[in-house]
Amino acid sequence: MDFELSDEQTRIRRVAREFAETELGERIAPYDERHEFPAEIVRKLGPLGFLGVLVPEEYGGAGLGHVAYALIVEELCRGDASVGITMWAHNSLCANHVASFASAEQKRRYLPPLATGEVLGAWGLTEPGSGSDAAALRTRAELAGDHWVLNGSKAFITNASVAATAVVMVRTDPGTRSTGISAFVVEAGTPGFSAGAPYRKLGLHASNTAELIFEDARVPAANLLGERGQGFVQAMRVLEGGRIAMAAMAVGIAQAAVDQAVRYMKQRTAFGRTLAEFNGLQGMIADLATEVEVARLLTLRAAYLKDAGRPAMHAAAMAKLFASETAMKAATRAVQIHGGAGYITEFPVERIFRDAKLTEIGEGTSEIQRTVIARELLQL
Ligand SMILES: Cc1cc2nc3c(=O)[nH]c(=O)nc-3n(C[C@H](O)[C@H](O)[C@H](O)COP(=O)(O)OP(=O)(O)OC[C@H]3O[C@@H](n4cnc5c(N)ncnc54)[C@H](O)[C@@H]3O)c2cc1C
Repeated sequence: MDFELSDEQTRIRRVAREFAETELGERIAPYDERHEFPAEIVRKLGPLGFLGVLVPEEYGGAGLGHVAYALIVEELCRGDASVGITMWAHNSLCANHVASFASAEQKRRYLPPLATGEVLGAWGLTEPGSGSDAAALRTRAELAGDHWVLNGSKAFITNASVAATAVVMVRTDPGTRSTGISAFVVEAGTPGFSAGAPYRKLGLHASNTAELIFEDARVPAANLLGERGQGFVQAMRVLEGGRIAMAAMAVGIAQAAVDQAVRYMKQRTAFGRTLAEFNGLQGMIADLATEVEVARLLTLRAAYLKDAGRPAMHAAAMAKLFASETAMKAATRAVQIHGGAGYITEFPVERIFRDAKLTEIGEGTSEIQRTVIARELLQL
């Protein structure tokens, strides 16, 4: 057993941490307040290789593994989770789906601009009527000559209105469930394809989330990814890696909550002492730091299994479940440690608290992760 990161992984984590410290944190707070997408800051991720992390080098990416990727996601989300989720949806979902299942010609066309950050990517599985039960999706595609005609909509899609490239799962064979779903690349500007107005969300205000709308959108037949009917299977494989990265996102948010709590405990005084000197609060912060470390280890273990080409679904579900519930707990306790100051927008914990909640919902809710874990244990 080796707990050491390689020299390359250590260097990558340092670059991500330095970027987060200089470009994120309080610099994103005004965007969060205005519900504005920080395009100019997201653009800076491209030259660092952070928008093509999992894309092979031959297509302009960094060609890194899931461990290195988890380290980057954690550090960015420790700085700011809105920028973190933007980069996560682009890499884990859109670019990784294309890199994993597209033909060589499709990869040559779509991956270089995604990997360099020339364009952003989105990925649409969820619909207004289907989230956890993804196989019930109803957006449909009908073949008309050399085009597919898409109708329907996707809900809650990260980067929906800032992406130029979207991968979407749609029903190509009515009357079936998972076997009738296919994946397509749809480009912004396709007639009949648009994004709705961004949602007003509880947290992650500086990330873009909107509907994707298809009204007789004509998509070239050449944009089908892999085989017809394989879209659901592809999506489940993409979600396996995506869940590990969302666990890393939760670890970053949880660590940020601990960072803020430690800082405040050292500066705030009550009864003639700093908060750091109160036993009750020491116990609270010690428990949190321990749980964040457990979440990090579970996440890196799942990433390691994925890199080794071993089954990782179970490990990914455990990491995602534990890390997201740790993020929510750490954020709640960090607000508590701040007292009234934790409840106002001047202090970062208020934003961290709002952002943490998404990790228990996105990429499969905590209930779905428990189902995945239990099914494996019970061999159902
Ligand atoms: C900010 C944000 C960004 C997102 N980004 C994307 C994206 O980029 N792409 C994308 O495709 N989707 C995205 N999503 C959608 C997200 O993945 C779904 O919201 C999530 O999977 C839950 O689906 P749902 O909202 O339809 O909830 P539902 O499936 O309606 O679930 C409602 C409740 O019922 C519970 N439940 C459902 N089924 C079961 C069951 N079998 N057993 C026990 N409990 C159950 C759930 O756990 C939940 O508590 C995003 C969501 C948000 C909020």
